[in-house]
Amino acid sequence: MTTISNSIAQRDIQFQLHSQTNPRRFEEQGPLIVTRGEGVRVYDNTGKAYIEGMAGLWCATLGFSNERLIAAAKAQYDELPYYHTFFQRTGEGATNLSEKLVELTGMKGGKSYFTTSGSEANETMVKLSWIYHTVHGKPGKRKIIARDRAFHGSTIAAASMCGLDFMHREFGLPLPGFLHTSAPYSYRGMQEGENEATYVERLARELEDLIVREGPETIAAFIAEPVYAGGGIIVPPAGYFQRIQEVLNKYDILCLDDEIVCGFGRTGKWFGKDLVGMQPDMMALAKGLSSSYFPIAAVVLAPKIYDAVAEFNKQGGAFGHGFTNSGHPVGVAVALEAIKIYEEMNIPEKVQKIGTRLRNRFEETAARSPILGEVRGAGLMLGIEIVKDKQTKEPFDVEKQAGATFDRIAYRNGLIARCMGDILGFAPPLILSEGEADELADLFDKSIAELEKTLY
Ligand code: PLP
Repeated sequence: MTTISNSIAQRDIQFQLHSQTNPRRFEEQGPLIVTRGEGVRVYDNTGKAYIEGMAGLWCATLGFSNERLIAAAKAQYDELPYYHTFFQRTGEGATNLSEKLVELTGMKGGKSYFTTSGSEANETMVKLSWIYHTVHGKPGKRKIIARDRAFHGSTIAAASMCGLDFMHREFGLPLPGFLHTSAPYSYRGMQEGENEATYVERLARELEDLIVREGPETIAAFIAEPVYAGGGIIVPPAGYFQRIQEVLNKYDILCLDDEIVCGFGRTGKWFGKDLVGMQPDMMALAKGLSSSYFPIAAVVLAPKIYDAVAEFNKQGGAFGHGFTNSGHPVGVAVALEAIKIYEEMNIPEKVQKIGTRLRNRFEETAARSPILGEVRGAGLMLGIEIVKDKQTKEPFDVEKQAGATFDRIAYRNGLIARCMGDILGFAPPLILSEGEADELADLFDKSIAELEKTLY
């Protein structure tokens, strides 16, 4: 990190509380001060360049200097810098984006609803699930089932849906009524003698047992990311969502799809649901929606969900939900431009191609390194397990801090990665060129070689 004598660093330590940061360590080490971005790179205040192997927080899909997105924002600021979508109001952009999202997601006859963040989008899906069941005469259906290792955001219900201890322990979460079932984590979850099909069957049975134990009349919805992001880049085994969905349908439980990372080409499909065969009743979109050039998120909902909201309010009441910046015209303008660029680039195909190239290179490093286990992922969402023993998959002792040490080495080498414990994650901007993919892979290989030396 930067030297503490730098006055920004000193003042930052004095005045700013940082997300997902250890306060005392931060006081000693100070911030990384990022001042500029260009393409897939960011630069710190000393001028040092980093390949942003995580596109920030899985989000700057079009990199850090896209002129068209900037121009779209500027043009909208000139025209109308703010308006809202409450009380029957809209702007042309909000209408156009609503239509575009329904069309792109394939949610036939559905509607779009705008929020500012992914957490709000996920919370909105929870509230809409409650209305749906109430209108259908089942107001007792309130509980939400999420999965271990899941990340769904930081607001109270979204954090409750997370399946990660670090999102719960300081706050006494999850709230009552937020339940968790096992992650479909084949690498560590599959037992001896099991194959993918029997593993899926066990997971489906575990879910069904949970539903029956809790009482199906109390369960509103199940939420999942098609491919886990922050939980460790986990692609479910074949047939997983099909079996899960059979269980959900049997007990009239809605399926909520968190596409906040997976959406807009990240997995090599337009949406992660298409990769894994998920058939959601609602989808949450954010991040890639605007390449995070503006905070905008959305829920796309099936017609039956909209009908429930309309039915509930048939006596003249209003849908009692909304955020000041829902459908913000600048966010909407940026998102429309981002989607236009994705379409012109044929983003899913491009991501498949470049993702395969990067993954092959990671696999080469894993083949020669004694400390790399599985390489997995989809498109440009790739994960690599650091292990002490490749055969037994035994992890390193926690005190070794293998993943965090890798992050520090990579950072020194000009590569920003993301460790999730000892799982290394990469989700670079989707504009990554072949040359940049090779450069990223070279830095990865070099950093792993250095990590090996620190671990033995
Ligand atoms: N869902 C997933 C899968 C995420 O990765 C995130 C953020 O990283 C969120 C939800 C929360 O989004 P936000 O930080 O915009 O609230």
